[in-house]
Order: sequence, then structure tokens, then C-alpha cells
Amino acid sequence: MNSITVKYRTKTHKLLAYEAMFRRILKEYWLNDSIVSAYKREKAGYDGERNVDYKLSTYPHKNLFIFQGLRLANPPFHFQIDTLLLTKKFICILEIKNKKGTFKYDSKQQQLTQEINGETKSFKDPILQAEAQKAHLVSWMENKAKYNIPIETLVVVAFPSTIIENVREDPDVYKKIIHNESLHQHLDRLNNNFTEEQFTKADLRNLCKTLLHEDTALRTDLLQKHHLTERHLIKGIPCERCQHYPMKRLYKKWQCPNCYSTSFKAHQRVILDYFLLHGPTITNKECREILQIDSPRTAHTLLNSMHLQHDGRNKGRKYYAPYMSDFPQNSSFPHINSSIFEGPLFF
Ligand SMILES: [Zn+2]
Repeated sequence: MNSITVKYRTKTHKLLAYEAMFRRILKEYWLNDSIVSAYKREKAGYDGERNVDYKLSTYPHKNLFIFQGLRLANPPFHFQIDTLLLTKKFICILEIKNKKGTFKYDSKQQQLTQEINGETKSFKDPILQAEAQKAHLVSWMENKAKYNIPIETLVVVAFPSTIIENVREDPDVYKKIIHNESLHQHLDRLNNNFTEEQFTKADLRNLCKTLLHEDTALRTDLLQKHHLTERHLIKGIPCERCQHYPMKRLYKKWQCPNCYSTSFKAHQRVILDYFLLHGPTITNKECREILQIDSPRTAHTLLNSMHLQHDGRNKGRKYYAPYMSDFPQNSSFPHINSSIFEGPLFF
């Protein structure tokens, strides 16, 4: 029997917001290096995590529960775990690294350096990072769940082409920093190390429930981060075929005044992108502005048709963004030339 995935990974708010930004930003700002490289970094992290998700999904172990990404509060901090594994005998935190090239770890200096394309970069000690997550989780469990169970950590290098060099040939490091390819063997090793079951099935089920309940996605304000304002963004709905904007509202559909192509649902993505870039709520007035329409009645109909949760009445009514996991995961950039994402990748 294979493991059970309790929480599936979806794109982070940050990654979805970058994708929204590329759909909404005016053409003259596409080639902003800091935006493109921040997007590529976020995307590489997601791709690396997905590689590990795939490897784990084929691990034959019953009663192994997988959380593909968690963010929990340990006041005054929040801590983020790339992947959390629960078994009856132990818990394991995976800290996933998407670095490419040569990955040199010096356990005496507690330093990680990456060599790629003739450049050397240094990074935080990933073993210490994983230990910090563990310390947070221990304290979270003491407060929330009152469980006592061994917690292990593994730093998992996601891409098979990355060379790991254990500079001091430290035997502990071989057990702490591993390739995704050897993840199954290391999980077997941990499983054999622990003989006693600390959790009952009911404990596991309860902990899974609490973790799911306490998991909160991080929101990143990308407009603020990159010093962008309304004047950098497209107004209205762009036409998917010719990129002209805004599309005009006809009876029950949108039409491009330039190429005359029509769409029934073109507003949906624009409203979802608004949530990602501007905040978790939208009013009728804000909706009219982003769709470039005058009629409050039309905005009302469009917002209601998306089945968003709402509260308040009339002009004060606010519509709420869907859950992060309900946002569309496909990254379509019909308006931009995808070659802006090419070029050297230094991960
Ligand atoms: Zn058009």
C-alpha cells in the first residue's frame, strides 16, 4: 500500500501572484529583471518540490501521511515546512533544495556554497534551517497537540543533476543531505531506526486534522514589493487573440473591438488576478474599474456568477477570494512573449 497524501501541493500565493502580474502588467515593464528573476526563483522552488512529491508518491508504506507544504503559526513567528511526513513511529521534515550545479556543504563552517557556470554563491546552512523548522514544530506540537514523538529532518536535493559534495566527509552529513533519488532508502533507514510506535491511528488522524486546520497560506504583496502601482497595469480585459484591451461588454459576453473575437468568461481570470495582486476582497466598484464597465448591475451579475463568498449589503458588499487551493493552477500568459523567461538560470 502506498502512502497517503493528506495535503496536495498547489502553487504558492507568491507564484500565482507573479503569474497574475505577468498577465496584468503593461508591456513596457515585462523585461524588468528583478521581477523575472524573482518569478524564476519561485518557479524553480515549486518545480523542485514537485519532483520530491512525485518520488514520495511511489514510496510503498502504509500509514505514512504526507503534507505537501505547511505553514503554521508559532507566535510571534510563522514557520514553513516544505514537506511533512507523519508515521506512527516518527515525524520527518523535508527541507527541499532546488539548487543546480555543485552543492558543497562544509559541516565545520556550517556553510553551503553553490558552484554553477563558473560562479560561487553561498547560502544558509540547510541542516540548520531544517533544525530550526524542527524546533518550531516541537514547540507547536507542545502547544497544540500535546504529542511527544521523535522528529527527524532531511535536506533533499530535488534535481538529480546537482552534485552534492560533503567537504569534510562528515558521516552525519551523508544522512542529512540527500538526493531525491535516494529518498526511499533514507526513509527505510529511519523507519528501521525507530522500533516503537508512538502514535495510534486515532492520534495520527487527529494530528492530520489539526495540521490541516492550522495551515495558513502566506500572502505576498507583489505590487508593493516591486514598487508597482495601478499605472503599471492593464485596465480592463485584454483580448486573448490580439492582446487589445479593454474588451467591451455586449449582451452576456465580451467582445474585442479590434479583432471582434468574443468570450463569455474573460472576466473571471481578471477578477481572480485582482485578488492575487490587490487583496482578498473586491467590491462592486473595484470590479467595475478593473473590467472597465459602468453598470453596477452587470458587475453584480458577474461577481455573483463566480459563486464567491460575500458579506455586507448593497454598496458595502464585499466578495471574498476563493481558497488558495481553488485558484486555477495553469499558468497562461497569452499576452506576453515567453522568451522573457529564458536565459541563464542560477539556481
Ligand atoms: Zn482581439
